[in-house]
Amino acid sequence: MKTIGVLTSGGDAPGMNAAIRAVVRTSIYNNVRILGIKQGYNGLIKGNIEEMNLSSVADIIHRGGTILRTARCEEFQTDEGIEKALNVIEVFNIDGLIILGGDGSFKGAKKLSEAGVPTIGVPCTIDNDMGYTDYTIGFFTAVETVVDAISKIRDTSSSHGRANIVEVMGRSCGDIALFAGLAGGAESIIVPEEAIDIDSVCRKVIKGRNRGKLHSIIALAEGVGNAYELAKEIEEKTGAETKVTILGHIQRGGTPTAFDRIIASKMGNKAVELLIEGKSGRAMGFKDNDIIDLDIDEALSQEKAFDREMYEVAKILSI
Ligand code: ATP
Repeated sequence: MKTIGVLTSGGDAPGMNAAIRAVVRTSIYNNVRILGIKQGYNGLIKGNIEEMNLSSVADIIHRGGTILRTARCEEFQTDEGIEKALNVIEVFNIDGLIILGGDGSFKGAKKLSEAGVPTIGVPCTIDNDMGYTDYTIGFFTAVETVVDAISKIRDTSSSHGRANIVEVMGRSCGDIALFAGLAGGAESIIVPEEAIDIDSVCRKVIKGRNRGKLHSIIALAEGVGNAYELAKEIEEKTGAETKVTILGHIQRGGTPTAFDRIIASKMGNKAVELLIEGKSGRAMGFKDNDIIDLDIDEALSQEKAFDREMYEVAKILSI
């Protein structure tokens, strides 16, 4: 393994920079040349590639976003796109690739591996929607951001005696709503994995008000109904003024938590070691408090399980 290429793909996630730093420094430590590929698979197709050194990754461990920039690349999903990427890989003498991204990016990584390019995937996405790993890089930073927002909204919710819907990311995976809802003490948590029960949400608002509770926070995963229509319905059914806060892309940014930096550093380090050992088509993960790697195909086939136990605890604690 003389040359490794690294790229970030899909939605950005805090901790991607810490992972890039780990990949670059572990490569250099092992006397392997390391190339940074810009803007995801776009850069791989276009040859937007630069050699990196120790200084390229100085002062980035604490920064959100990705210094390599990221993109979604439709062309890479075609055979022609893959062919172009394989040509660039050959021209730049790239012997192995490390792909930082979510499940879409991993599908691309799998194709490269099947085409004979040693490739390792590192899970980076705030949604925590990859079934084979307990946590993805960026998830806990997003949760912290939401918890911080909920605390602030709770202040104003209490002052005015309002109900507040806080819409968070996670179109197909309710983990951000669940974890931040529990940590933020939300009265109701609405996720795609569980049927929405508006009457139960309304009962919580009314019961809370009747016992003198001033605030009412509803953590809503995006895509589960329309937040504004939900607010209108709650207002009509409870008489409580109901406001909506859509957190949006604020959840993608910010300095990564220590946990995200640690798993990013360990996974990035291990990904390089695996390539040096001659492994390919592997997915890095975090399971039962350990860094793991498994076949990328197997990783992609594992369905994300919803933590129903945690959901029930959150319900009990918000009675
Ligand atoms: P996030 O979870 O943050 O959305 P992601 O990696 O899942 O991240 P996607 O937009 O699904 O984000 O995928 C990122 C890129 O990976 C795509 O733009 C495309 O270039 C590549 N990709 C996705 N699916 C495939 C596929 N089936 N084959 C080849 N490449 C793919």
